[in-house]
Amino acid sequence: MIESAEKILENRYLCNNCLGRVLAGQLLSGISNEERGRIIRYFLAFLFDSGKDVKVDLSNFYGIKFKKRKVVIEKPKECFVCKNFFKEKIEDYVKKIVEKLKGIEFKNFLVGTKVKQEILSSEEKIWEEIGIENAESIKTEINREIGKKLEKILKKNFERKEPEISILVDMVNEKIKLQIQSLFIYGEYKKLKRGFPQAKWICSKCKGKGCIYCKGEGKLYRTSIQEIIEKPLLKKAKAKKSAIHVSGREDIDARCLDWRPFIIEIKNPLKRKIDLKKIQFEINKSKKVKVRNLKFVKKNLVKIIKSERMDKTYSVLVTFKKPVKKEKLKDLKILEKEPILQQTPLRVLHRRAKKTRKRIVKKIAWKVLGKNKIEFKITAQSGLYIKELVTGDEGRTKPNICEILNNKAKKIVLDVVKIHKK
Ligand SMILES: [Zn+2]
Ligand SMILES: [Zn+2]
Repeated sequence: MIESAEKILENRYLCNNCLGRVLAGQLLSGISNEERGRIIRYFLAFLFDSGKDVKVDLSNFYGIKFKKRKVVIEKPKECFVCKNFFKEKIEDYVKKIVEKLKGIEFKNFLVGTKVKQEILSSEEKIWEEIGIENAESIKTEINREIGKKLEKILKKNFERKEPEISILVDMVNEKIKLQIQSLFIYGEYKKLKRGFPQAKWICSKCKGKGCIYCKGEGKLYRTSIQEIIEKPLLKKAKAKKSAIHVSGREDIDARCLDWRPFIIEIKNPLKRKIDLKKIQFEINKSKKVKVRNLKFVKKNLVKIIKSERMDKTYSVLVTFKKPVKKEKLKDLKILEKEPILQQTPLRVLHRRAKKTRKRIVKKIAWKVLGKNKIEFKITAQSGLYIKELVTGDEGRTKPNICEILNNKAKKIVLDVVKIHKK
């Protein structure tokens, strides 16, 4: 270690942090690199004062008082590796971070640093000279040292795995960037009215800015399940944007009369302490959407919710063009016996890939409500297009109800009446 220290200090000055880190960053625990560096420096100074020939640039001993040696020591230039980051700049960054965090609610944080190339190159140069066996990288030290200072000032914890805030210290552009972890709130909704989508439908022509096509609204529907649910949450969290994650969706003109699980993600929340009971009460003032069981969850539940495949039971009220021959209805039972093959429906072909789906109708029952009017109860696997099961979609869904009944549908009114949760 002494040899290595002489090698790297022979023609240059290193601060305690850098000296300790490159020589012994991986040795001993419970002390900082600054202390490691100071111990090594003082040991060299002992040797020097005792008359040993220590081959280092003497500015490395600046500030140390020798008893035997009579030498005049000049003030060192800046640290070869960190350019005096630890001595002069770290506090400024910490101050800037604290300023930037004002008004944001969080209980833990992570620090990441983008280090200047010249500093990384200087450190690599030292590594080439003495090896990296016991060294730690400057990036790790900066992250930790800023973290320690912030923990003290903010009284909050450094958190590696799931920090509520990630602080990126960009030394290259001398900027601080914050990444705030979204809030994820689980719930279950019912959709009680028809005529609005699940997610906010941004106008594709203007991407939300407002144009003639969307009448200046920036979106194609005045509201959505997402907007109804997000409204009180965005307000409380002082956030601007959300995303809704659901397993499947009902058509715009369909209702959903059973509770459908969802997760609403609130992006960049400035506040995280939210009374979900009050939020639920606010949302449920809506006549269109009701929610229940709101609770905070972890991000990984999004994947699980989105991939869940649940059977659904639909009520499908069909008005046919001609009167329905009742004796033909029992032929519909064939739908339970063979899989339904569906090419991507014409109505969604513009936004979905063209392919053929195979889904199973588990149960079909019916109630005759009039000469031309029948209510079907259909239980099907997740992903079966129900309207197309009725109409046949110009031969793209086979078999289908209209073909079996040799009739055509004039009007279809659809509700999800049961979601078979696992
Ligand atoms: Zn340094
Ligand atoms: Zn538009």
